[in-house]
Amino acid sequence: MSLFRDLGKKAEKFKQQVAASTEGTYECDDCGAEMHTEYEECPECGSEAIRRTE
Ligand SMILES: [Zn+2]
Repeated sequence: MSLFRDLGKKAEKFKQQVAASTEGTYECDDCGAEMHTEYEECPECGSEAIRRTE
């Protein structure tokens, strides 16, 4: 019985990880602006050096 409970917990954790990965956090390498969506160019300075921080 406890095995099924563990599987349920794992599935719940996995769902949370998926939800987190679709949001994510991005940061401009040039000016340090934080974004929650991936941009082609930084909305602050226009740099293309966007990197994912999480
Ligand atoms: Zn920038």
